[in-house]
Amino acid sequence: MTSIATAQDEKPSEHVARYGDREFRYHLCLLPNHQKATIRVHVHPNGRVQVDAPQSARLPEVKAAVQRRARWVLKHLDDIEERNRHVRPCQWVSGESMRYLGRRYVLKVIEDPEQRKTTCKLTRGQLRVQGQNLTPERTQKAVGQWYRERALDIFQRRLERMVDTLPWAENVPAWRILEMKTQWGSCSPDGSLLLNPHLIKAPTRAIDYVLLHELCHLVEHNHSPKFYGLLDRFLPEWRSVKEKLDGESELLLTR
Ligand SMILES: [Zn+2]
Repeated sequence: MTSIATAQDEKPSEHVARYGDREFRYHLCLLPNHQKATIRVHVHPNGRVQVDAPQSARLPEVKAAVQRRARWVLKHLDDIEERNRHVRPCQWVSGESMRYLGRRYVLKVIEDPEQRKTTCKLTRGQLRVQGQNLTPERTQKAVGQWYRERALDIFQRRLERMVDTLPWAENVPAWRILEMKTQWGSCSPDGSLLLNPHLIKAPTRAIDYVLLHELCHLVEHNHSPKFYGLLDRFLPEWRSVKEKLDGESELLLTR
């Protein structure tokens, strides 16, 4: 499963660090020893604090490393909170910025009393919704439908392309889209995939990362070092892609 904005491990271990009279939570991710020799603290743009440590690291060692970065972490968290104060929900009117495959497009709502059926099209840098009585709800529905159609088309094509490169997958497995709040994708024990249609807003390489992640679960059903070895082999830059996707997840899920 590709969790949204959680650590690489399905059940990341949570810890709390204190600094003065403040505290913050962090997820500890233990990585295979060969991948990273040092303990690293990241603050994702969504405010999640992740600590990567080699499997051999001892907990007191990890805690000390986090403590040394605590002031820096809290400063980042404050900056993020300040920034989020200005994020407002989408109003579904002309001028809103919509995302598709990692790019932004301006939403244009065109009232057309002659047009019975509402249409949604991407043309000349605009996502144009056209029809009658276009309330924000109707516009949102039309855009949501368009996203789902694009997701069905693009995910299938990316899956076909990817399956060709993977020695263990002969055909594209059965899959469908499902809106999920906490996962970009999942792979069931019978080998079928669920994919979150909001992922269509992310860049193609992020889509590929999620698809590859799920396709790797066809052979490795857990997040073992062997599983990460497959990701490393078929998408060596997956960590930076994942980090960027995690950072944008709030935005991608809400508009
Ligand atoms: Zn997974």
